[in-house]
Amino acid sequence: MTHRFPEDGQRTAVFAGSFNPFTVGHLSILKRGLEIFDKVIVMIGHNASKKDDSENAEKRVEELSRLLAPFGERTEVRICSGLVAPEAKALGAVALLRGVRSVADFEYERNMADINRDISGIETVILTAEPRYGAISSSIVRELRSYGYDVTPFLPASPLSTDN
Ligand code: ADP
Repeated sequence: MTHRFPEDGQRTAVFAGSFNPFTVGHLSILKRGLEIFDKVIVMIGHNASKKDDSENAEKRVEELSRLLAPFGERTEVRICSGLVAPEAKALGAVALLRGVRSVADFEYERNMADINRDISGIETVILTAEPRYGAISSSIVRELRSYGYDVTPFLPASPLSTDN
């Protein structure tokens, strides 16, 4: 495989996911990714076949862009309407950024990383979850919220602190 380095010397990664919602676990991966890469593009997966999803996706891009504004030019939020790996490549990203909480996550992420390398030649950098966030998932947050539980401890504080 030929390895090409970006001409401007900027190392950009793409952190893609559903982020429905974006949790403190996601924020931890993003901040740690920014210790490794110059820029991290957060890509919100969008399901073109689902009704109302485009509008929702646009709204989530706006909300998340506002939340991540303190990182300035080092982050950017976009919608991904196709396959992540080729879109990331087209944006000049050198890697995909992902997080793993468990062995189950790892099995899934390893398969995705292998396939994405095969189809686009893009590498995946996988960070292990901080133990304090290891049990947090968007689906658990959505479920708790549906029962009226206060989920603010699982969501990034707004305004955001850019420290760790
Ligand atoms: P997807 O729908 O692609 O799984 P998610 O929005 O659930 O997207 O997650 C995006 C990435 O963030 C995945 O790599 C996932 O493993 C990781 N992630 C999710 N929650 C956490 C967490 N609490 N700690 C670390 N990584 C996490």
